[in-house]
Amino acid sequence: MSQDFDAILQANQRYAQTFEHDGLSGKAAAGLAVVTCMDVRVDPLPILGLRPGDANILRNPGGRVTPQVLEALVLATHLLGVERVMVIEHTRCAVAGSTPEAVRQRVSDASGKDASWQPFLVAGDQETALREDVAAVRSYPLLADGVEVGGFMYDVDTGLVSRVV
Ligand SMILES: [Zn+2]
Repeated sequence: MSQDFDAILQANQRYAQTFEHDGLSGKAAAGLAVVTCMDVRVDPLPILGLRPGDANILRNPGGRVTPQVLEALVLATHLLGVERVMVIEHTRCAVAGSTPEAVRQRVSDASGKDASWQPFLVAGDQETALREDVAAVRSYPLLADGVEVGGFMYDVDTGLVSRVV
């Protein structure tokens, strides 16, 4: 068997020795859901002063509002105690300020394979995409009534989050 995960699982053994999050309900204790990018520089819980159990975190390339994100927000706002949704994009995002064609080309160059058939949800203009994504959440018919939805930008060089919409 591969040894690739051995060190990771050893780290988990150490984590479990002092585990302190047992008994959480699975509801979002801070009433919050966060939609954000998969980028390794974005670490949502500490960025927002949160702890495990506080928020539903939904991540994908670019932190975009996709059909599956909307599906998750329907569940989160009706069943998991979420009353606020933050959509957080970030500076220097690999899937912003570009085109799907350019990203496909980068993947083709890196893989040596034809990536022309792979969809990529790339934001040409990041702020426009953020405003459209926030509007998509706000207008989604199955979202719970009264949910607050905001669009934000995280600066990966300062750690600061600012509100955009
Ligand atoms: Zn990103």
